[in-house]
Amino acid sequence: MFDFLKQLFFSSRMRQFFDPRNCGAKRSSKWPALEKKFLSEHPTCEACGVKAETVHHRLPFHKYPRLELDERNLHSICEKHSCHLMVGHLGSWASYNEDLVEDSARMLNKIQTRP
Ligand SMILES: [Zn+2]
Ligand SMILES: [Zn+2]
Repeated sequence: MFDFLKQLFFSSRMRQFFDPRNCGAKRSSKWPALEKKFLSEHPTCEACGVKAETVHHRLPFHKYPRLELDERNLHSICEKHSCHLMVGHLGSWASYNEDLVEDSARMLNKIQTRP
């Protein structure tokens, strides 16, 4: 019984609903494949250069549903150094960084040329 509940809770549908990064929005069924493809083509975090685990939306897909699958709106970013939360969302999953592209490039350059 417990296993059943645990399985239900962690099934992708439930996770999608409870994942705060989705802001309660439903994901396209095409998203997992696109995320995988994008990560294989853009494997590093655009803000710090480590391996990216996440594909972030420059404009949030819960506000701009038409841009969910638009590759020009995607940005590889890491969870390891909290770049997703801090650079992508300015510390709040409900918010987003309007200067993400510039800030990422600036951070990456600083890191690559750090003293
Ligand atoms: Zn990073
Ligand atoms: Zn994000």
